Amino acid sequence: MKNLSILGATGSIGTSALDIVRMHPDLFRVRALTAANNLPLLCRQIAEFTPEVVAVLDADKARELAGMLTGPCRPDIMFGEIGYARAAAWKTTDMVLLAMVGAAGLKPALAAIEAQKDIALANKETLVMAGDIVMARAREKKVSILPVDSEHSAIFQCIMGKRNKDVKQVFLTASGGPFRNTPKEAFEKITREDALNHPNWSMGEKISIDSATLMNKGLELIEAVHLFGICHEHIQVLIHPQSIVHSMVGFTDGAVMAQMGVPDMKQAIGFALSFPERLDLGMAFPDFVQLQSLTFHAPDFQRFPSLEFARQACIRKGTLPAVMNAANEVAVQAFLDRRMGFSDIFRLISLTMDCHTCIDNPDLSGIIEADHWARTKAESLI
Ligand code: NAD
Ligand code: MG
Repeated sequence: MKNLSILGATGSIGTSALDIVRMHPDLFRVRALTAANNLPLLCRQIAEFTPEVVAVLDADKARELAGMLTGPCRPDIMFGEIGYARAAAWKTTDMVLLAMVGAAGLKPALAAIEAQKDIALANKETLVMAGDIVMARAREKKVSILPVDSEHSAIFQCIMGKRNKDVKQVFLTASGGPFRNTPKEAFEKITREDALNHPNWSMGEKISIDSATLMNKGLELIEAVHLFGICHEHIQVLIHPQSIVHSMVGFTDGAVMAQMGVPDMKQAIGFALSFPERLDLGMAFPDFVQLQSLTFHAPDFQRFPSLEFARQACIRKGTLPAVMNAANEVAVQAFLDRRMGFSDIFRLISLTMDCHTCIDNPDLSGIIEADHWARTKAESLI
């Protein structure tokens, strides 16, 4: 029996994880649940999964939640940064699924590591911001960080049992998002609704926009550098519109291993939660006859400069990745709020990165300071 803290329980990853728990009640027990909002759903989850503790965004939400609970399960209700950190480090928990969105994941990740809880990591922003600090601390504390992102799960599955020195190249696949074939001139007219309409995956709003700008792949490039200790120069991004090959690894002798599956996050989530076991998730295999062909091509950096921003952040390191991440979060939110257009997302990230005076080898407070600086700067630039 594995005891879980699920952070971001009401989101796309969180609800898929709870579907897996529901399928395997003999294997998993939920000890802590957290969410920022959607209290009605959180209430139903509390009734069904009976956690000992929950955490929500702030004191108002905590009071509201307390008033909404009618069933026999009455978990302790905590809130804010401290509440999320305590849920991550909860005493009866063995593993934390970090599935909240954005920079809010960093402190709970570190709290989980300090308490020696293994992490199933969906929140890529944590490694983009502070990958060096998080990975070093996880090694010191002997904490496993298991990838939930489908590409990183694929890479992990391909290198399992292989020797590090034999790995030469990673091929990071991307669907290309809804604007794969949209000419640059048409970008100005892209609406919130167009951008949220991902062709292959059903995901939260922020990552859906990140997929549309390809910033998701930029974030994933940095995530892969930290998770697998591979130089960004050995990671090639490939547009693969069918989203069947979740990523590939090339070895020194020219062999390439791919991990495939239908585009459904349950496989990657289930593998991280149950590693090294594989669960029966009732998943269908891809219908290869129906598919007929799997295609790959190079990304268009002219239309999607996000990948260049991420490469720049990989090269410069220091506080620049955190600044890129924060500027992106502000830009995505402003686009979702209809305060600026789709192409402005690229402009805002680029301008904010250009204005930043990068600090080398920052500690945690240096990273958080850079994150705050970038948010203020990006807001002022809008
Ligand atoms: P989502 O928007 O569907 O859910 C986010 C969850 O986090 C919700 O429970 C929400 O209440 C909570 N949350 C939001 N803001 C918060 C804050 N400031 N503090 C604490 N909690 C907060 O997002 P998602 O699509 O499930 O993605 C979650 C994370 O997983 C992201 O980092 C994303 O990049 C990553 N990821 C998602 C997918 C996917 O298919 N959805 C795939 C790979 C990686
Ligand atoms: Mg991914």
